[in-house]
Amino acid sequence: NYEYYELNLIANTTKQMADAIRESMKKIEFEKMVRQEFFANVSHELKTPITSIRGYIELLENGMATDEKMKKEFMARIKKESQNMANLINDILMISRLETKEAEVIISEVRICPIVNDLIASLKPLASENNISIDINCKPIILKANEGQIKELFNNLIVNAIKYNKPGGKVNITVSKEGNDAIFIVEDTGVGIPEESKARVFERFYRVDKGRSKKIGGTGLGLSIVKHIVNYYNGSIKLESELGRGSKFTIRIPLN
Ligand code: ADP
Repeated sequence: NYEYYELNLIANTTKQMADAIRESMKKIEFEKMVRQEFFANVSHELKTPITSIRGYIELLENGMATDEKMKKEFMARIKKESQNMANLINDILMISRLETKEAEVIISEVRICPIVNDLIASLKPLASENNISIDINCKPIILKANEGQIKELFNNLIVNAIKYNKPGGKVNITVSKEGNDAIFIVEDTGVGIPEESKARVFERFYRVDKGRSKKIGGTGLGLSIVKHIVNYYNGSIKLESELGRGSKFTIRIPLN
């Protein structure tokens, strides 16, 4: 009987081990898939601007720009495409830094209002280009965090609120405290996000309207970076949006 009990124990343990191995294999396979898809996407997204840059250079080489105006236009396109590439590479570096746990993340006491005010000042040209007004209501909050990450978080949300707005639209930014949480709200009166895309906009490279988003410019990585950063600080993010009326992103981060 004792032997039977032992054998049973061994059989059970072996089964548990096999199950655990199977589960972790599944996880590894899944991560491999996600990684492969990510690299395929990155290569595709980088190839597009490179092809376009090469095309314009060839046009210039072959003397297809017949006057100064055309030459300037081709140059401007080359500049814009290289800017797109630089943005993409920056976003990928940001993601890789966020994913490498051992990377040193310098934490300090970050004052939120000056960061948001500086960002708004630097985004003024983009906003006035689209005739967008930005309003800010900022309670003085100090968060123990990495300053670069907090800047990135606000930058991505505010740039989106401007980019996906309508001419003459508004952006409202609120920074406040609720209990032990810091609350950041970025709200716009823009095009809105359809119900079926609300969960997906936080995925890497997901863009609601590929055609329109392409024209507007961007990498499709901004919101996935925002989500990453919010998770890093054990926070949460809520998206409310109505198609054609606007979107509201609410972020809650524990203050300690
Ligand atoms: P992108 O570089 O394309 O802006 P993001 O990850 O920042 O990438 O956003 C993903 C997609 O979510 C965008 O392409 C856009 O379709 C949608 N989106 C993001 N923010 C807004 C917003 N404030 N209003 C409407 N749509 C938005």
